[in-house]
Amino acid sequence: MISLFLLAVIFSANQGSAVRLAFPHEPGVKSVDILWNHKRVPAFFINDAWSTILGVDLDTKPGEYKTDVSFTMDDGRVERRDAIIKVVEKKYPTTELKVEEKYVELSKTDLARANRESKETEAIYATITNEMFSDEAFTVPIPGGTGTNFGHRRIFNGEPRAPHAGADLRATTGTPVHATNRGRVVLAKNLFFTGNTVILDHGLGIYSLYAHLSRINVKRGETVDNGQVVGLAGATGRVTGPHLHWGMRVQGARVDPFTLVGNLK
Ligand SMILES: [Zn+2]
Repeated sequence: MISLFLLAVIFSANQGSAVRLAFPHEPGVKSVDILWNHKRVPAFFINDAWSTILGVDLDTKPGEYKTDVSFTMDDGRVERRDAIIKVVEKKYPTTELKVEEKYVELSKTDLARANRESKETEAIYATITNEMFSDEAFTVPIPGGTGTNFGHRRIFNGEPRAPHAGADLRATTGTPVHATNRGRVVLAKNLFFTGNTVILDHGLGIYSLYAHLSRINVKRGETVDNGQVVGLAGATGRVTGPHLHWGMRVQGARVDPFTLVGNLK
């Protein structure tokens, strides 16, 4: 019998996208995990294969990245194999703007608050929950909604800002916002930049964020189903008008949320 372990597996992914990896099951395999960005990401047994989702940050340099895939056998042996993630360049738009300093400078208090909150959310994204909350496909939080703006870089007065790490979905205030998949609420409160914000943990290091909500319908610690209404769209936080900012982080990587839709099954 030719072991499937001997096959070199190459997965291709754009900068700023999520990629699904699947490895065929072999008798005796008990668990599988993949080393990616210095983190161990578990794979789960679905449809006769070991499957997981990895995030490729929009600033990951194009090229081939070797990952270490560990197959732990029933008898405790660990078989190590390589998989290659080929990161393909994707161009995102850049806009240069000249604005009066008072519109881009934050007060000391606001800056301190924003920094504190950014530490809090980064700590959430750095955590990989070793379970998968759903075997359903990810869905768009506003059914039928299309997103714009992911990866858009803005340069204010020659100073580059962090690229736009989510998709903006058109929505009027009060439009119901649905969970992209089953998950646990890990944050539900008001933040300086993103206003009323909900973050869901979907397991495997996958997190979704819903920002600028006019109302939050869920509480931290509660589990929500795919499609459940987590809040209503609005214009809270630093925004110019109502819309839904939908972000997805995958093992910390900033990815275009639409690359996850339909990606799990
Ligand atoms: Zn946005």
